[in-house]
Amino acid sequence: MSPRSILTAVAWPYANGPRHIGHVSGFGVPSDVFSRYHRMAGNRVLMVSGTDEHGTPITVAADAEGVHPREIADRNNRIIVDDLVALGLSYDLFTRTSTVNHHEVSQEIFLGLLKNGYVFPKTTLGAISPSTGRTLPDRYIEGTCPICGYDSARGDQCDNCGNQLDPTDLINPRSKINGETPIFVESEHYFLDLPAFADALGDWLATRKSWRPNVLNFSRNLLHDLKPRGYTRDIDWGVRVPLDGWRDRDDKRIYVWFDAVVGYLSASIEWARRRGEPDAWREFWQGPDTDAYYFMGKDNIVFHAQIWPAQLLGYNGQGAKGGTPGSYGALNLPNEVVSSEFLTQEGKKFSSSRSVVIHVRDFLSRYDPDALRYFIAVAGPETQDTDFTWAEFRRRNNDELVAGWGNLVNRSISLTARNFGAIPAAGELTAADRGLLESTSGAFARIGDLLVRSRQKAAATESMRVVAEANKYLSDEAPWKLRETDRERMATVLHVALQAVDDCKALLTPFLPHSAQTVHELLGGRETWSAAPQIEEVKDLDDGSPYPIITGDYTKQLATWNSTPITPGTPLAAPTPVFKKLDDSIVDEELARLAADR
Ligand SMILES: [Zn+2]
Repeated sequence: MSPRSILTAVAWPYANGPRHIGHVSGFGVPSDVFSRYHRMAGNRVLMVSGTDEHGTPITVAADAEGVHPREIADRNNRIIVDDLVALGLSYDLFTRTSTVNHHEVSQEIFLGLLKNGYVFPKTTLGAISPSTGRTLPDRYIEGTCPICGYDSARGDQCDNCGNQLDPTDLINPRSKINGETPIFVESEHYFLDLPAFADALGDWLATRKSWRPNVLNFSRNLLHDLKPRGYTRDIDWGVRVPLDGWRDRDDKRIYVWFDAVVGYLSASIEWARRRGEPDAWREFWQGPDTDAYYFMGKDNIVFHAQIWPAQLLGYNGQGAKGGTPGSYGALNLPNEVVSSEFLTQEGKKFSSSRSVVIHVRDFLSRYDPDALRYFIAVAGPETQDTDFTWAEFRRRNNDELVAGWGNLVNRSISLTARNFGAIPAAGELTAADRGLLESTSGAFARIGDLLVRSRQKAAATESMRVVAEANKYLSDEAPWKLRETDRERMATVLHVALQAVDDCKALLTPFLPHSAQTVHELLGGRETWSAAPQIEEVKDLDDGSPYPIITGDYTKQLATWNSTPITPGTPLAAPTPVFKKLDDSIVDEELARLAADR
C-alpha cells in the first residue's frame, strides 16, 4: 500500500485550568495512539491542536482575579503544554488560539462564509444593565437553563447539559454583577445559516460508515433540529469580526466555539509556516489521498459533526445556496469523528456530591505516563462511560504491566545476559518455536487493522494476549532447566523469546512509547525507537509574542509496524525493571487525597 497522508485533529483543551485524566482519556491518548501507529505503518501524519483560549469562562476567571484574560490563558496554556508533553503526546504542532495566525485564518473562514451567503446579519436582543444603561456581556448574565433546569446556566452555554444558549433563552436572567434583571434591546449579530446545510450534512453523514455507531446516530439526530446559530457574541475577548464598523468594536467578537474549530486549519497553516513551506498544510486538507480524523470527548460531537463541517461546506460553496471556495480553495471535511465517552473518577465512592477529578499533573508526579496510557487504552471510555478507580489502576499495573509484559522482558533478557551475554543465534526451530514467532509476527496485521478502525481497547487487549502467549512459551520451554543439559536448545529458546519481546515491543509502542524505548535499549538498541515530543519556546510568527509549542521530529525514529529480525551477537546487560510495582497502600493514600480535595 502506498503511504497515505493523515490529519489527526485533536480537540483543543480549554485554557481555564489544568486538565484531568478524563480529558486526556477522551482527546489525548487515543489521538496519540492513532498517530503513532500510522507513523509506524509508514503514513505521513500531521497531528495538531492547541489551547482554546477565548470565551466567557476565561473572562470570568480574569475578572475574578482582576487580570487581563491573556494572563489566564498564558498561565493555563503553559500548564497544559507541560502535562501533554509529560504524557508523551506526539503533536506535530500544539499551539494556541490567541496567535495572530489563528485570528486571521478564523476571519478568512468567516469572510468566505459571508461571501457565499451562509452567514447573515440579524438583529437580535442584547442585554443592557438597567442601572448603567451599558451593554451586559454574555458572561455577566446567568439564569435557569430552559433545557435542563440548571439554575446557573451562562448566557452562551449551560455547563450542566452542555447546550448552547442565547442570553434571551435563559429563564429568570440576572446580572452576575448586581443581580438585577437585564433589559433586552436590539443588537446586531451574525448568524450561521445551519438549515442551508441540512441536505449537504445529511449526504455527508450518509457516506460515513466506519464511525462508532453511537457517534453517528447522535450526529444524524442533530439534523432534525437545525436552526441558525449566532456566529458573534457580546464579549470583548476573542477574534474580531473582520468587517468595517465591526473590526474596532470592543463589544463584538466571533463566538469562541466557531473560532476554536477553525484551529485545526490554522494550526496546520502555522505548522507549515514554521517549516518554511507555507503550502505544506494543503497535503492534509486538499488532497484526494488524505484522511482527517477528529478526536474528542462526546460533549464536543456537535461542533465536529455539525458546526465545523457546516463551516467547511459553506466556505467551499457546497451548501443549499451554492457558492465558490474562498481564497484557500476547497477544504476537506472530516473523514471520521472519533469520540470517546466519559471517564468518571472514583464515581461510585464519591457519587453523593460533586464529582472528583484527578489532574494529569498530580497523577504524573507519582506514576509513570505509560501506566496511565495503558489504563486508558485497555480500560478507557472508548464506547461507554467508564469509571477510573485507583484499585483497578493498581491491579492493571501490577497484574498486566508488571507481571505480564514487564516479566516477559525481564526474564528473557536477564536469562540471556547471565548465560550468554549477548543475543544468541537460533538453532533448528521446533513447532512450538515457529508457532510463537508466527503468532507475534502475524499480530501486526490483525492489531493494525483494529488501530486503523480506532478499536484501541481491542488492539491493546490483543497485544497483551500475544504477550501472555510468549510468557507461556517461556514457562513451557523452561530454558533455565537446559543450562547444564542442552545449551544449544537453551540458546534457541532464548533467541525465539527475545524475538517475541522485540515484536511485542513494536506492537505496544503506540500505547506505551516510553517503555518501548526502554525495552529497545535493553535489547541493545542505541537509537531513538519511539520519538518523544518536545517543548519549544517560540515567537508568534506575526507579532513576536513568546509562547511554548509542542512539536517533535517523528520521522527519524526507528519504530516500524512489522517484525524486525533481532541481531545475534548484540550484547545484553542485566535489565532493570521496566515498570514499577505499586504497593497496596497507594489505593488508600489516593482516596484520602481525593477526599481531602473536596
Ligand atoms: Zn442545561
